[in-house]
Amino acid sequence: MRWFGEAMSTLLSMKAAGKLSAADLLSGADFTSSKQPYGLSEVFNSAYFVMYDPNQYQGLTSADKAKFDAGRALAATIGSSGYRQVVLSENIFRRESDSWFWQSKVNIDTAGQLVHEMFHVAGFSDNLFGWFKVNGKSLNDSIHEHCGITGATMR
Ligand SMILES: [Zn+2]
Repeated sequence: MRWFGEAMSTLLSMKAAGKLSAADLLSGADFTSSKQPYGLSEVFNSAYFVMYDPNQYQGLTSADKAKFDAGRALAATIGSSGYRQVVLSENIFRRESDSWFWQSKVNIDTAGQLVHEMFHVAGFSDNLFGWFKVNGKSLNDSIHEHCGITGATMR
């Protein structure tokens, strides 16, 4: 928790101070409104997890829904006023399968992926995972090291 809290708090402070670019933040009115979470507890309080249901409208874009339907998604975080919904694919819980889309015999780092999604809940885009470093490591590598499942794969 300590690592996660420090990394998240650093980024939330940067966001509040206007030090992040538009590309670092999720696009869409819901993520640019005054309802953005700026504190750690707000991030947790605004997270709402649901399993993907192909027969139900869950707010996904048609492009994201197509990825879920094709089995090429782990999770998607979408905004709504007052909360962030994380839609989870069954693939995020996948262990050792031959039929996985990206590679065979992959063991998904479920815990790490969920922590990754929490950064999206906070309003950060995947752009930030490219340049924000923790002790010289990318955010995803740090998440995997500190919060993830040993031996499993972060996408
Ligand atoms: Zn992401």
